[in-house]
Amino acid sequence: MTFDLECRNLTKRFGGTTAVDDVSFEVPSGSFFSILGPSGCGKTTIMRMIAGFLEPSSGDILIRGKSVLDVPPNKRPVNMVFQHLALFPMMNIAENIGYGLRRQGMGKAQIAVKVDEALERIGLPGIGNRKVDELSGGQKQRVAIARCMVLEPDVLLLDEPLGALDLKLRERMKVELKTLQAAFDTTFVYITHDQSEALVMSDTIAVMNEGRFEQMGSGRDLYYRPASAFVAGFVGDSNRWAGRIERAEGNVMQVQTDSGLSMRAAAHGRPLAVGDRAQVFVRPEAIRISRAGADLAHFDNHMAGKVTNLLFNGAASRIVVAAGAEEIEVNLPQSGEFADLSEGDSVQIGWAGDQGNCFAEGPAA
Ligand code: ATP
Repeated sequence: MTFDLECRNLTKRFGGTTAVDDVSFEVPSGSFFSILGPSGCGKTTIMRMIAGFLEPSSGDILIRGKSVLDVPPNKRPVNMVFQHLALFPMMNIAENIGYGLRRQGMGKAQIAVKVDEALERIGLPGIGNRKVDELSGGQKQRVAIARCMVLEPDVLLLDEPLGALDLKLRERMKVELKTLQAAFDTTFVYITHDQSEALVMSDTIAVMNEGRFEQMGSGRDLYYRPASAFVAGFVGDSNRWAGRIERAEGNVMQVQTDSGLSMRAAAHGRPLAVGDRAQVFVRPEAIRISRAGADLAHFDNHMAGKVTNLLFNGAASRIVVAAGAEEIEVNLPQSGEFADLSEGDSVQIGWAGDQGNCFAEGPAA
């Protein structure tokens, strides 16, 4: 496998703050790689080092196998798309897309061919003469990407490029960006704090927390096999409880939560032993519901409760069930079978032990 980008033991310190702490990763050619993490975790600092705007404190950055540490930003085979697209309003669309090529000294006729090709690829043929403010937000986004892609970078860096768009457009652009990436067959490195953007578009996602990568894998890996409490909490929704390990059988733990519930869960990440503090995560879609009286005793975890809240949201509707001192979010089946539930109704809930993920408290190993 060939890698367009490799970061080796990359570290960046600002005074006493370590913004990026010994991060290593490889991005295969032509793939979509995302760095997902909360504000301040160090995502932008990594991008700025790759682009050459910041010098690493230590470590190395290789593009197509060659270190670029000594290469100035304008000579690196990378390009960057920012949240604020910075198209030039005084230029028309064709001039915007051709801007970088003109600066490289390419001839007019050749630029015109390249610009037309790029407009074709982004699905906007023939709009070269339009002004920037005649385009929709999504069209501007595509033009901004085309402007970078005509320069044929080895790696395109995208720093929260959908952040300034409204929700509906953002949803559409998630799919479009993935399509554009495939159309240009270019390696994309995308940073975001939005898990759904990362899950929809990426071949590989690195989840970042406090300067370090906690886990790297496909969206499915992160969602179904989180390696740390942070990843389990950050990717997807979960009910979560803190507690103590009461009993351990292999990697199946019996956990007593601080609120007094007892539940089985599968241990992941750092090893756990009886008496250890732990956090348990259970996804709302992993929990089955039945009317009071109906039996969910075949599940390792089952309990009676009362509906305290109905959160109607079409196919993603949920209820909140009070069980003991806990409020537990449960997805409603789409069958409509429970559509007439009301607040105050008694229900049973249950889930299999292996649907709970249990981790030692604190960061990954
Ligand atoms: P956001 O999603 O909010 O953009 P981020 O994950 O991109 O956040 P960074 O901008 O990389 O985070 O910042 C990581 C840490 O480094 C933060 O604690 C930030 O305050 C610090 N930091 C970033 N740039 C500098 C700088 N030039 N000088 C000092 N500290 C900095």
